[in-house]
Amino acid sequence: MRCLLCLKPSLGYICRECDEAIKARPRVHTLRDLEAITFYDYDDIAPLTYAKYYPFGAFALKRLAIKAFKPFFRDLKLENAAALIPIDDRLGAWYSHSAVLAKAGADGMVTPRFGRLRAQSKERYAGKTFAFRAAHPRRFAFKGFAEQNAILLDDLITTGTTLLEAAFTLEKNGKNPLFAVALTHAQ
Ligand SMILES: [Zn+2]
Repeated sequence: MRCLLCLKPSLGYICRECDEAIKARPRVHTLRDLEAITFYDYDDIAPLTYAKYYPFGAFALKRLAIKAFKPFFRDLKLENAAALIPIDDRLGAWYSHSAVLAKAGADGMVTPRFGRLRAQSKERYAGKTFAFRAAHPRRFAFKGFAEQNAILLDDLITTGTTLLEAAFTLEKNGKNPLFAVALTHAQ
């Protein structure tokens, strides 16, 4: 097979050279009243944001989640357990990549809870502007979970409106969204 990032022949979906070159560095972004932490430079992993639409992309995403989220959650000091809520909005995708990321990345006092926030909107949001996103809310359906505290997870932050809407939905349902995590932020 070929490396999804550099296209050179490789034993894995990400070759060893790329795997060593791509460093996970936590960075904090402020999305109005929600903090979001991202881990990779967008340019480093941009090819994978296309690969995610194919079944093999799951393997590459899993590797990125293990490198970034797992040590972060393992070292995170929390007083109470928190639910990790993948934002599960890609209708018609081959698989839910946010679920793949949450499953591979959870650790410590953070437990993934799947299918808790599901978008009811049928719109396609990739590449759309802030104005479009603001005018077409995703209308998340909330399903309960045990923990009071929640950490939101998405693969890519573009305008931040999805995460803000998700956080608002949690608050409306009596939950406490602590912050959000994502692999990268597209500027
Ligand atoms: Zn490579």
